[in-house]
Amino acid sequence: MRRIATHYITGYALGFALCLVGLTMLVAILWRAWPNVPTSHGVFPALEQYLWTKDFDFGFGVRLKLMHLTIMGATALAFGIFVLAFSRKVFYVGENVLLQCPFCKNQWKASRARGWGTCPYCNQMVQPKVVKIRK
Ligand SMILES: [Zn+2]
Repeated sequence: MRRIATHYITGYALGFALCLVGLTMLVAILWRAWPNVPTSHGVFPALEQYLWTKDFDFGFGVRLKLMHLTIMGATALAFGIFVLAFSRKVFYVGENVLLQCPFCKNQWKASRARGWGTCPYCNQMVQPKVVKIRK
């Protein structure tokens, strides 16, 4: 359980960081590109053209096309979302939660704790109480 939880937190932090980096890159590029893109012939072809022609100078002789930065940003974002989804799955798969209905007091097992759920016994929308988390 400890191993899974650590894995989850690491994965979550990594995924979140990747999402943040990707989003920041995309927003920064758009922010920079937007005023320079003529919108008369359609925004996206013009934007694409602009991103291919403009370089971003990092200094130290490192120059990258804005398009490559856009692709990197989008990749980081997509990978971050993937890692987030995956770590969430890893976290929940190893867990068996016993939930209790606050009305009929019946208990049932679920793969994860839910804020809201339908009680399988009295069929009401309830906020099930977590009785036990199997480790
Ligand atoms: Zn119930």
